[in-house]
Amino acid sequence: MEPHERISAKLSKFRPSLTLALKRLANERRAQNLPVYDFGLGETKGKLEPEIREAGERAFREEHTMYTDPAGLPELRAAVLKWMNCEKHYGPENVIISAGAKQSLFNIFLAICNPADCILFDAAPWVSYQPLATAAYAFPVQVLPLKNPDTLKVSGDDLRRNLRMRPHVKMFLLNSPVNPTAQLYSAGELEELLSVCVEHRVFFVLDRLYWRIVFDGGTYPEPRIDAQTRPWLIQVDGMSKNFRRTGGMRIGWCVAPDDVAAAMVNLQSHYTAGPATPTQRAALAAITTPYRNDMVVELQGKRDLLYRESQDMPFIKVWRTPASFYSFWDVRGCFGRRTPQGKVLQTSDDVAEYLLTSAGLITASGSGFMQDGYLRLSFATPDAHITEGMRATRKALSAMS
Ligand code: PMP
Repeated sequence: MEPHERISAKLSKFRPSLTLALKRLANERRAQNLPVYDFGLGETKGKLEPEIREAGERAFREEHTMYTDPAGLPELRAAVLKWMNCEKHYGPENVIISAGAKQSLFNIFLAICNPADCILFDAAPWVSYQPLATAAYAFPVQVLPLKNPDTLKVSGDDLRRNLRMRPHVKMFLLNSPVNPTAQLYSAGELEELLSVCVEHRVFFVLDRLYWRIVFDGGTYPEPRIDAQTRPWLIQVDGMSKNFRRTGGMRIGWCVAPDDVAAAMVNLQSHYTAGPATPTQRAALAAITTPYRNDMVVELQGKRDLLYRESQDMPFIKVWRTPASFYSFWDVRGCFGRRTPQGKVLQTSDDVAEYLLTSAGLITASGSGFMQDGYLRLSFATPDAHITEGMRATRKALSAMS
């Protein structure tokens, strides 16, 4: 066997995980005692809610460590429906608990797609969508937003155009609030996209992992669930973003129509058999305790601080963002500019690298989201990082010619 044949061809097409590369770079700078302002990782900080910690501890003390239902604890599946306000439309048999939203997405792709079926993604697809689709032998396609290039939001017309061009589309996956752009699809925009999917008989997968983090008193627009939409609608959510420091709990879930849910349980029973029982119990405590808004209030304050501190930044446009904990920067104004070291910046990777090496700013380059020309900054970071990081950034950008 030739060396290049040892690993499957589809894996060799994966970009290495962008977020993990950022973590490594940040650690390297810290080891050299250089200032680091970490806007890279999309992870909430702060203290774990006491009921989550106690339920996890209790689960081990009481030895809830045996196999459970491969679809997840029945009481957690029932609680998920209440948490997502859809208990009128589904039963626990429609909910599958997985090891993070990533596994929920992979289950969906594997359960629904045949080889070469097309999965349509929104205009700035989150980094892992395409590798997961490829691993499921599906064909990932990004929908370009001709109507709303300023927000990168996909419209019903954009979706229709793609469906006309591609007969093998099996699903459209929308993420709202959007990682990375931090936009939120309105009720009307969501309904339009859902209706187009129903009309064309393709699945509409809604990844709503950040749905509790909506600012300025806004609420999350829920998708319409009725006899028409129910067979085509699949929702993905989980523990990772709406609570503090819960990404490592590795709990996600999806709510799906009966046949899709049954197929996913069948699949999951053969590989992970569901996530760890104690963390499922901790997740149950989290979503059955009335939701505390303090994290959202705090994040809104950070969003405002970052927005203020980044105003009139040379060569950069900072978007107004209504949800999640990301700030999205249009950095195309940096292209063609020269750094003091003499390098001409040409891509968002170049800009990200320049800001890291000259200002210690860790960001996520838009190229990982198929949008060269942008940077994503996660502001789930201490306020001092925001003020000092923006000062260092302004200085670095002003030094370019
Ligand atoms: N979807 C989106 C939009 C995400 O941002 C993430 C995590 N960054 C995931 C899914 C995966 O979530 P989890 O950590 O629960 O697997």
